[in-house]
Amino acid sequence: MYLDKAEIKSGIGRWLKVDFGKTIEMAEKHEVYQSLVRTVMEKVTENWCDTDEIYSNGKQAYYLSAEFLMGRALGNNLINLGILDDVREVLAELDIDFNVIEDAEEDAGLGNGGLGRLAACFLDSMVTLNLPGHGYGIRYKNGIFNQKFENGFQVEYPESWLKYGDPWSIKKASEEVIVEFGDQTVRAIPHDTPIIGYGTKNVNTLRLWEAAPVKDLDLTAFNAQEYEEATREKARAEDISRVLYPNDSTNEGKKLRLKQQYFFVSASLQDILRKFKLTHGNDFEKLPEFAAIQLNDTHPVIAIPELMRLLYDVEGLEWNDAWDIVQKTCAYTNHTILAEALEKWWIRLYEEVVPRIYEITQRINIELIQLLEKKFPGQRGRQKRMSIIQGDLIHMAWMAIYGTHATNGVAALHTEILKEQELKEWYELFPERFQNKTNGVTQRRWMLLSNQQLSSLITELIGDKWITDLTELKKLEKYAEDEEILKRFLDIKHEKKVEFAKYMKNEQGVEIDPDSIFDIQIKRLHEYKRQLLNIFHVIDLYNRIKADPKLKMNPVTYIFGAKAAPGYLRAKGIIKLIHDVAEVVNNDPVVDGRIKVVFVENYRVSVAHKMFPAADISEQISTAGKEASGTGNMKFMLNGALTLGTLDGANVEIVEEAGEENNFIFGLKVEDILKMKKEGYDPHKPYNEVEGLKAVVDVLMDGTFSDEGTGYFEELYTSLMEGASWHDADQYFVLEDFDAYREIQKKANEAYSDKMKWAKMAWINIANGGKFSSDRTIAQYASEIWDIEAKKL
Ligand SMILES: *Cc1c(COP(=O)(O)O)cnc(C)c1O
Repeated sequence: MYLDKAEIKSGIGRWLKVDFGKTIEMAEKHEVYQSLVRTVMEKVTENWCDTDEIYSNGKQAYYLSAEFLMGRALGNNLINLGILDDVREVLAELDIDFNVIEDAEEDAGLGNGGLGRLAACFLDSMVTLNLPGHGYGIRYKNGIFNQKFENGFQVEYPESWLKYGDPWSIKKASEEVIVEFGDQTVRAIPHDTPIIGYGTKNVNTLRLWEAAPVKDLDLTAFNAQEYEEATREKARAEDISRVLYPNDSTNEGKKLRLKQQYFFVSASLQDILRKFKLTHGNDFEKLPEFAAIQLNDTHPVIAIPELMRLLYDVEGLEWNDAWDIVQKTCAYTNHTILAEALEKWWIRLYEEVVPRIYEITQRINIELIQLLEKKFPGQRGRQKRMSIIQGDLIHMAWMAIYGTHATNGVAALHTEILKEQELKEWYELFPERFQNKTNGVTQRRWMLLSNQQLSSLITELIGDKWITDLTELKKLEKYAEDEEILKRFLDIKHEKKVEFAKYMKNEQGVEIDPDSIFDIQIKRLHEYKRQLLNIFHVIDLYNRIKADPKLKMNPVTYIFGAKAAPGYLRAKGIIKLIHDVAEVVNNDPVVDGRIKVVFVENYRVSVAHKMFPAADISEQISTAGKEASGTGNMKFMLNGALTLGTLDGANVEIVEEAGEENNFIFGLKVEDILKMKKEGYDPHKPYNEVEGLKAVVDVLMDGTFSDEGTGYFEELYTSLMEGASWHDADQYFVLEDFDAYREIQKKANEAYSDKMKWAKMAWINIANGGKFSSDRTIAQYASEIWDIEAKKL
């Protein structure tokens, strides 16, 4: 037993007294929360130190990521420690509801969406597999903004998860390092969070860096001018870790962003080298046997020239030896092929922020060009295209592929597209470097914690091995025809829908009917994800009900949840449109409960916990070829929702595992889109020819809805029908896919009439979800890229 009930109880009481000077009767909920966390932390510390110790002489993996979308830690840690029920009971004895205490924790929203959440799932899997693997990132003071809806518009408010401090982290002031920019020097202060695994004593580390001024404020300064200067310097340093950039899959090219990247990368590499020297001295050619550094997208790719600087400038190695070490140590994960996401930096900015890194980048580029001339003599066009420095820009993805030993995509289809299209020339240069690592999610958080009812049923049927080996779920297949079990599954699904409906009522005052189909699209708002296609279908359905008030269908609640990047006006226009449609559809008596549209405010990890288990239909409708993997699709599948989607990202593998007949697949495939682009796609064709579509698209222009003078709707219309200077009309094929989408929606709606058949399809999806555990993904990274092995405390 890790912490018994008596220890939990006395711990809470003791920490309430020490930290707040209160008794349990006087304590506020966040104080009880903090004291409970302190009790857990106190107990975890010993194993944490011991884990460090057993890892220290072997090879370890370091996951460098600008984002870690952790969400809440309490429930997850208690479940992983096996003490959730005990804590619940102790609190109940004290007349406190655990759920209230759980709600006192702010989400650690240090990420935008899938990429940051993946990093969080990976940490959970690494420690649960007893793998020596840790995270390095930035301790943003403000995470992803809080979203409110005002009159149907998104309004952003600053988020402050550190309002009451973060009891899960420890500031390690003695391990701070200095980071130097061209125009500024700052301190990087590490804050360590224990990563607690399931069924293991191992405790890994997430180390997040906070930026601070070199000199703390000298309050005795008698000169007012000096005081002001010092305050300015302090603010300038703290700016670096002040706020998460809220863009998902777009690169703004801003100076502060480059500073953030260099800041956490330099601090992390200095930290890795410091630890290396403790055990291996200056024998740097051994570094690749000691450390594997994974670059999560291009955000930390400046690690390549920075590690060169540290080895060549600081440690005095030969250039070629240093380069060999860098390549062997680092590996790169590509997350997207969207052009607007590929990071490029203006040379002038890069040189200003990190002058020495720029010189090193130039030398790396010269050697790349020499290599290209050797491999592809005289092919000037190719050499130019593959150059890291091109014109005024530095291409971080090119540096990533050249400076590492492995480049991986995040789903089979995505990796194929990289090899055959987007990175074809690089694949020809380094075929041995390209790998696939299909994403996954942790079943501890996304099933065991967030769907305790389903988890209990599964454990009752097949035992609890699935919690650490998700392929065990396959054993559920033999119950696929068992009506009694399927009935229990449907009851659980209904219970989770009721729970979510209560949440919506409490939070937003919105009533939704748990007996309707919950059709859910939750993910960042992005044109390629095509929330617009979803709401266009709702408009068409509404038009058809108006034309035929007796139209028969199973009632559906269309549920959206999404944040738009604050500067992404089209995404904001789509949010407003969905609200306007909701306003009309939800209030027209002719609809008579058949459709309801709701938008969940401030979608985030803790809300996601309530939504995935409540879904009947998982909307995964991105334009084929654009969604690298998706992980939301996996969370839905594992909670028994059917995928209604395109053959994109990991959807392809989901239907490969669970069968296309158990999901609703529609629309253009990657090849179709390539062909249409080649032959010339004109959205006027579907607009004029597909029944009902013109009426739908025209609502953007005919005043049915009002965007209140923002111009959002007209701009959306133009983007579809005419295009813009930087893209063709309807670049994401919304209109072309509309008819197929409407057909598949109809098919899904009809299928729901046979509840038992529906339950069976959902059940088969769960039984075949084993592949989509991040445990499988991480085991593959560990053996195929990092070459690290489990070490158990
Ligand atoms: C899983 C998850 C995502 C990723 O969703 P996709 O559908 O894969 O884009 C984004 N945000 C949160 C809060 C998540 O939990």
